[in-house]
Amino acid sequence: MSARAQIGVTGLAVMGRNLARNFARHGYTTAVHNRSYAKTESLIADHGSDGDFIPSESMADFVASIERPRKVVVMVKAGGPTDAVIAELVPLLEQGDIIIDAGNAHFPDTRRREAELKEKGIHFVGTGVSGGEEGALNGPSIMPGGAPESYETLGPILEDISAKVDGVPCCTYVGPDGAGHFVKMVHNGIEYADMQLIAEAYDLLKQGLGASAQEIGEIFAEWNKGDLESFLIEITADVLQHVDAETGKAFVDIVLDRAEQKGTGRWTVQNALDLGVPITGIAEATFARALSGSVPQRAAAVGVLPAEAGSWEITDRDAFIEDVRRALYSSKVVAYSQGFDQIAAASEEFGWDIDRGAMARIWRGGCIIRARFLNRITEAYERDENLPLLLADPYFTKVVGEGVASWRRIVSQAALNGVPTPAFSSSLAYYDGVRAERLPASLIQAQRDFFGAHTYQRVDKPGVFHTEWTRDRSETEA
Ligand code: NAP
Repeated sequence: MSARAQIGVTGLAVMGRNLARNFARHGYTTAVHNRSYAKTESLIADHGSDGDFIPSESMADFVASIERPRKVVVMVKAGGPTDAVIAELVPLLEQGDIIIDAGNAHFPDTRRREAELKEKGIHFVGTGVSGGEEGALNGPSIMPGGAPESYETLGPILEDISAKVDGVPCCTYVGPDGAGHFVKMVHNGIEYADMQLIAEAYDLLKQGLGASAQEIGEIFAEWNKGDLESFLIEITADVLQHVDAETGKAFVDIVLDRAEQKGTGRWTVQNALDLGVPITGIAEATFARALSGSVPQRAAAVGVLPAEAGSWEITDRDAFIEDVRRALYSSKVVAYSQGFDQIAAASEEFGWDIDRGAMARIWRGGCIIRARFLNRITEAYERDENLPLLLADPYFTKVVGEGVASWRRIVSQAALNGVPTPAFSSSLAYYDGVRAERLPASLIQAQRDFFGAHTYQRVDKPGVFHTEWTRDRSETEA
């Protein structure tokens, strides 16, 4: 077997198959392999004309068909299957070869794998890929981590097959070891928040205006022409206007209201807890999915828990719609601001040196959270690469400032009328918390010192202090 493939893909389910086709369509001779040969055969049978594929039944033949340094994309189920494929690959590879894990790995696994393979002289590039099967085929957003040297040869190929916005590839080197998968994880967390916020906006329009799904779909389509323009708003307009063929009802009304999750939202929240970063929008979105799936609890509560809620009295329909739009946009800015804080904190913790502006740039196309407003985030980090808070960038301060009165009206009306808006409300609470001159955390510190002698600092002089609460209440410097 002559080693002439420029890249190889093992794992040919929907994602791997489409990525392999994307490489081939861009003129790369692409080696393809799957544990069960049937998927490899069907790829060649159905799409062999996409480009130059080299199919192999065995892993050994697959590896032998790739030119050195080999670039092997692993696109299998995350977790154990990825470890199994790596274990099979490693004895067949040589120093300087590159394994690209393009699955949805948890970043600590990527850090572990990268460290283990580095000892063997093999580069391990944990790579976030977003955009689902459509993106994999036509241009995803790609977030590669690993050693910078590996990006020198791999980067141009990945940039080539990635989505492009204004001619700029939606792919860049993210940072060492697990940085790529970390950024993909936060991307997914932000996606959770984005989706929850859209769902809350839909619910408010439905309950507040009594509007039909069709009408709300039209409102979203209108919003998609402005600042909110994004893939998720676009598909929301589409989904809401879709009619179920069987019943003739709005499709959204025949879907069971239990949102599932595969785990990246949960990972994002777990990591934020570890790092001590408040990502309330993402956390509320994750918990809202969990609440929707809390079947026995919901059954015990529906019709039982008193609401004592008012009823909507909307006199100006257009003003209400505009309030919801502004509340949505402001809450969205908070969710992104928090997500970028998390990236900054992890970058610091793990020494990744992640360029946040570049992350916003590569999310502009190909991925699920692609949106016009990501340009604004890139611009904010270009103005100040060390920006401590995205919300504090002049552009965001201005737009959120313009929306904050609407935001307060919507959150308070929702509370008064008994409509749950966990992401809208928690985002506003975060906004008010982070801008507060003084927080009641002083009382918490005092309580902690009272019951646990945990000490406190004073506003009027440096040092760490403790009060003898149960004795004479004298203060000592710790
Ligand atoms: P998948 O359903 O997650 O995985 C199926 C693939 O894994 C098949 O090729 C299967 O081979 C292989 N596999 C499973 N266990 C294996 C093992 N022990 N040894 C070798 N191969 C094994 O496929 P997918 O939906 O295409 O996703 C692939 C990866 O991309 C996942 O990590 C996923 O999380 C990630 N991802 C998916 C999406 C999406 O929209 N689907 C988006 C972004 C990222 P057989 O055919 O032999 O069973």
